[in-house]
Amino acid sequence: MTPRVVRGTPASPGAAVGPAWTRSGDVAGQGGGGPPDAEAAAARRGLELAADELGRLAQALRGEGHGGDAEIVEANQLMAQDATLLEAAEREALAGASAPEAIARAVAPHAQALADLDDPLLAARAADLHAIARRAGALSTGSSSEPPAGVVVIADDLGPGEVAAWSGNLAAIVLAGGGTTAHAAIVARSLGIPLVTGAGPGVLAAGEGDEIGVDADRGMVWLRPDGDTRTRLRDRAARVAERAERDRRERRQPARTGDGRTIRLLANAGTEAEVRAALEAGAEGIGLLRSELAFLEAAAWPAEDEHVEALRPMLDQLGHRIATVRTLDFGGDKTPPFLAGATGGALGPRGVRLALASADGVAPQLRALFRVSGDAVLRVLVPMVTDPAEIEAVRGIANEARDAVAPGAPDPMVGAMIEVPAAALMARRLAEACDFLSIGTNDLTQYALAADRQHPGAFRAVAHHPAVLRLIARTIAAAHSAGILVDVCGEAAGDPELLPLLVALGVDELSVSPARIAQTRRYVRSLTTQRAKAALVDALAARTADAVGAAARAAVDRALLEGLEEPGDGVEGR
Ligand code: PEP
Ligand code: MG
Repeated sequence: MTPRVVRGTPASPGAAVGPAWTRSGDVAGQGGGGPPDAEAAAARRGLELAADELGRLAQALRGEGHGGDAEIVEANQLMAQDATLLEAAEREALAGASAPEAIARAVAPHAQALADLDDPLLAARAADLHAIARRAGALSTGSSSEPPAGVVVIADDLGPGEVAAWSGNLAAIVLAGGGTTAHAAIVARSLGIPLVTGAGPGVLAAGEGDEIGVDADRGMVWLRPDGDTRTRLRDRAARVAERAERDRRERRQPARTGDGRTIRLLANAGTEAEVRAALEAGAEGIGLLRSELAFLEAAAWPAEDEHVEALRPMLDQLGHRIATVRTLDFGGDKTPPFLAGATGGALGPRGVRLALASADGVAPQLRALFRVSGDAVLRVLVPMVTDPAEIEAVRGIANEARDAVAPGAPDPMVGAMIEVPAAALMARRLAEACDFLSIGTNDLTQYALAADRQHPGAFRAVAHHPAVLRLIARTIAAAHSAGILVDVCGEAAGDPELLPLLVALGVDELSVSPARIAQTRRYVRSLTTQRAKAALVDALAARTADAVGAAARAAVDRALLEGLEEPGDGVEGR
């Protein structure tokens, strides 16, 4: 079978070996043969059954604390219930198509219209629509397409409902297409199922039951792995399980360097499940609550009660811990339908500029925040700041909200995200207006290097580029000279190619995704200030990102980095 080994994109970590299970995605020829009336009824029944199934799944996910995933599945349920879709499917069946074909044809123009918009988020919705058609098609013929336990599912693409429904049976998933932002990937990550996407059409040649090896940390897939590879992957899967157990044991240890400097370790979260995962991993609080993620499908600026509903399940869990809540960061890659005409890519109106331009952009959320913050240490974080006046405006709205909803409560802390180069260059002036700063290295890197973070073909934008390092260094120094704390909440906070340098620069807090809390704690614990400072001297003298990264890695315990190294074993390209 060729190719023997392929490389795709790591979309949800882990490793596995198991028999291939290939679901036939081809509906042509399935079922059918009945009178048009019967096929039309079957098409309707298939879509209704798919919608019911998705509804039950959403309920189960919510019950298990996966609120964000439940929302994605519910959005799919709504698509399956769409009246125009049901009618179109019936029409196709009455014109002679089998029920599965009729559903696929009804879905096709909608999916194509979404795919044509050339937006990765909408493309994910197009993939969801195809997944609904496949599932409804199978249900319309009464055929079962459940995988047996322990298999590696191989498919061109999967919907979030399929991933969630089958999760108990899956050793891993390999997708020929799909992307890391696809909804299937989001669900797989939160359910801990190893997933490789974009492995290319070669993987679809795997026969039912063929043994498949998956290293989803590196995005590698073996069709019929040899004995050594099989052993290596099984060992790796066992190590992943051991690591999870060790993480659990160590979760109460502080993120303290060998010579006794403690960094506060916080988490980035946008859903109830992520807050729970963060606290389970030992995070001391939330360093970045991406409040806008609950409203990506919103039809208008969310009202106060809607904010309460979104925030309460997250803040309720925090007790006296830190709750750093970002005001709505709409625009760019996070544009709900009602703002589609008002924004325009990475350089269009976004973040605080967009929110302050509307009377409902900030105030309802801050009132809601005071209603639900309870005992948490509340910090209001303002995205895409470039001007101290933006902070002053948000502070004014926050104080008014406090006076209206919780008179007598202390002034909330207000901080700026430093994610635009202009803000880093003006960090001293901004720091004077703020109670804390938080460096968003994802956008800071994108804007400093003119490299679209959404675009797969963009210049390789890395936060350890010497220019970005200088912007970060300048921001940390500015915060400290103003006597306020500074945290880093972009992906770089947990990256061994930058983290030691952040520690040497004196960062006070690191905020990382829940899945990276344990690893970040271990990196910090492997450092000494002396080694980190030596790395910083080398990094500041470096001319290239690679040299900065190498300098930083030299400060981290080698044994910790070994798990990240690439194997050199004959990988064929896609
Ligand atoms: C950032 O830009 O680094 C950041 C943390 O914000 P987001 O990734 O949500 O844009
Ligand atoms: Mg950002």
